[in-house]
Amino acid sequence: MDRTVSKFGGSSLAGPAEFQRVKEILLKDPKRSVVVVSAPGKSSEEAFKVTDMLLMCAQLASAGFRYDEIFEQIANRFRRLVRELDLSLDIESLLEEVNAHIASGESSASCASRGEYLCAQLLADYMGWTFVDAADLFLFSSEGEVHEEESLKRIETKLSSVEKAVVPGFYGSLPDGKLTTFRRGGSDITGSLLAVGIGASLYENWTDVPGLLMADPKIVENPKPMRHMTYPELRELSYMGAKVLQEDAVFPLAREGIPLQIRSTLLPEDPGTLIAENGVHKEVVTGIAVKKDFRVFTLEKTKMREDRGFLRKLLSVFESNKVTVEGTPSGIDSVSVIVAEEQISGKLEKILEEIRMYCHPQRLTTQPGLALVVVVGKGMIRTKGVAARLFTSLAQADINIRMISQGSSELSILVGVENEDANRAVSALYQTFKGERDE
Ligand code: ASP
Repeated sequence: MDRTVSKFGGSSLAGPAEFQRVKEILLKDPKRSVVVVSAPGKSSEEAFKVTDMLLMCAQLASAGFRYDEIFEQIANRFRRLVRELDLSLDIESLLEEVNAHIASGESSASCASRGEYLCAQLLADYMGWTFVDAADLFLFSSEGEVHEEESLKRIETKLSSVEKAVVPGFYGSLPDGKLTTFRRGGSDITGSLLAVGIGASLYENWTDVPGLLMADPKIVENPKPMRHMTYPELRELSYMGAKVLQEDAVFPLAREGIPLQIRSTLLPEDPGTLIAENGVHKEVVTGIAVKKDFRVFTLEKTKMREDRGFLRKLLSVFESNKVTVEGTPSGIDSVSVIVAEEQISGKLEKILEEIRMYCHPQRLTTQPGLALVVVVGKGMIRTKGVAARLFTSLAQADINIRMISQGSSELSILVGVENEDANRAVSALYQTFKGERDE
């Protein structure tokens, strides 16, 4: 049977009302058979994330201070859930177990993981489903890297016989049996690997936002949602800073071709955003993103192309200065190198000097303040005139284009503009392409 893995973030499990909503969602579709939970997060009633409070307890404990006041706040949150949801599990003995865990000097990661542990126990009880401990499924190396292959094997073996399971996100075991966690927000990775391990037909990521938006709502008012997109498109947009879930979580799903659906527990009827391997969608442009503060180095040299190894020498300067290069748009006798400004700090003079020394350009200039605006869309390949409309839209908004580059995958067009023009560029492009959504 088709199985869906559903992951709920901390804000979707912040209190009793949220738990009720999660239950309704889970019961609505019998395919939803493996649930992954974060620890209860913030809400209008709750000012703190349980994970943050556990980390505070661990810190105080390791410094030899009392942490009982904060622990009591955590305990009361779980007690309230048990009371208001009318659960039968013995919360006091679970809380005692967690308290003893912190008191015994376990690592802060190990202590932080107890929020997910308790939350999953509660949800399992509430649903009448089986609690499956992530410590038995996820194995980490002593350096703290997850052993993917071994973990996937365990997931497949242990979960194949469980019809309905609740698994805590975020943590797993080290070779010595102690616990550790993925980085913050890591329950997404737990969920994604569970989906791969059980061969799920869908991975749902439930949060408090209704999917991905076509542009940053801080720049464009009320942007349209992106209903469908492909993994490569998601990659382009997240690279440019459109945040969804952790890259480490997306990668295994994309590799296995498991669709990912981002949905909101606040709007359970809303389809959210579906990301699939090869989704077909009608939109020409899927999304627009922007990243600011790049610096451009431009070199001019006649017969640049006849100097074999010219580009290699140029790029070696950046490599040896530990600077990552974002792109190298080039002309006949000129080439530019684009890098993030933060990478250059304190190294500018040295880099310029080394370029002069190794590449002998006739002219070398460098300019800060470049913003890269990326327009992403699988449909652009098939549609004539997209580039023309894109440039007209920027010209009409009186925006000067400093650079243009079309990704070789033809998934995106990248335009370099002044930092100050970046937001206006996004708005202009959004207005031009928003009308083509298939809603
Ligand atoms: N609870 C953890 C955190 O706050 C992990 C997660 O939510 O995914 O980072």
